[in-house]
Amino acid sequence: MSPQSKKAKVEDIAVTRFREYLRIKTVQPTPDYAGCTAFLTKYAKELNLECKVVELVKGKPLVIMTWKGTDPSQKSLILNSHTDVVPVSEEHWDNPPFEAVKLDNGDIVARGAQDMKCVGIWYMEAIRKLQQQNKKLKRTLHLTWVPDEEIGGHDGMMVFVKSKEFKELNAGFALDEGLANEKNAFKLYYGERSPWWLTLIAKGNAGHGSKFIEPSATYRLLKTLDKFLAFRDSEQKRLEFELSHDGKPITLGDVTTTNVTILKAGVQHNVVHEEAQAGVDIRIAPTVNHKEFEQMVKEWCAEYDVEMKTVQKFDGAPSTILSEHKEWQVVQSVAKKHKVDIEPEIFPAATDSRFLRQIGVPAFGISAIKNTPVLLHDHNEYLNENVFLEGVSFYVDLISGMANL
Ligand SMILES: [Zn+2]
Repeated sequence: MSPQSKKAKVEDIAVTRFREYLRIKTVQPTPDYAGCTAFLTKYAKELNLECKVVELVKGKPLVIMTWKGTDPSQKSLILNSHTDVVPVSEEHWDNPPFEAVKLDNGDIVARGAQDMKCVGIWYMEAIRKLQQQNKKLKRTLHLTWVPDEEIGGHDGMMVFVKSKEFKELNAGFALDEGLANEKNAFKLYYGERSPWWLTLIAKGNAGHGSKFIEPSATYRLLKTLDKFLAFRDSEQKRLEFELSHDGKPITLGDVTTTNVTILKAGVQHNVVHEEAQAGVDIRIAPTVNHKEFEQMVKEWCAEYDVEMKTVQKFDGAPSTILSEHKEWQVVQSVAKKHKVDIEPEIFPAATDSRFLRQIGVPAFGISAIKNTPVLLHDHNEYLNENVFLEGVSFYVDLISGMANL
């Protein structure tokens, strides 16, 4: 054994910063944004990046870091990541979720390891590497660290894209989060479905459970929900059998889901109650015309006199058409160099990218997490050190490729 291999391996600075970031408890519903901002401000200083903290909503800071390009007339590249993470059920974790323990096999275990603290650190460490190589990039890079993505982004990216601080960034293109991939491949999300959450309220007469009480609230509600379920069935069939124009099976992001997620009615078995409610989680595929879809749902509800209340609705954003952006070619050539496949898809849920695309900033959602089970929001979320370190070199090429277009 050589003397060198006897020595404990010194941890890569990228891994150290990653683990430090993971230890900050930015967990909803009470994220430590102050601790996070302190960490990020110091980190920006370490890499000589300009750094600004913006508080558009009190207690919800946004951190903007800037690395000026040699051609500031060009529109900038936004490197976005959210700083918050989802809650944990600690009893289901084999290791504490906020200690960023590194197991013998190199797995770094922590909430946020995949979603999406890895991505924020990749941007930073790619910049460190580029600086070490004395590289200069043409386009200006802005790293945006936004709060509250995990609770819908209303006090985060949604207000940010409408602010003068965002306008000043002169955004041309954005990178944001994707999902892990069990294969030797990265997902690339170029569009998203639009969430629409509905509460349905049916009213009727009350009476004895032995009679035909008309109108009946539960009857009306169930007849209406039948329509949502029939639609759900037809979309599920499409997902099973339909092929996209390139002959590949379509994915979840290509269909619309209408799931009944809440049911509330009744007090006891022999009482017909006067009200029944349901919650429906709808995710509208980007190819669907929102007006027509809304009209159809309204008609379903009107038929049985069911009131419909929107809890939240996103009005849709244009997908980022791959062939229209040179950045797509960059992704493909960088992936080829790193011997990893790219799987372009519509994101099945929602990310902050939807707010960017809605105001006309094209965006790709990508996380360089390959050969790893998808554990976002799950117990024992982890990312292996080697996969993480390969991610740093992937982002070196991706960022420099995109910023030198
Ligand atoms: Zn995320």
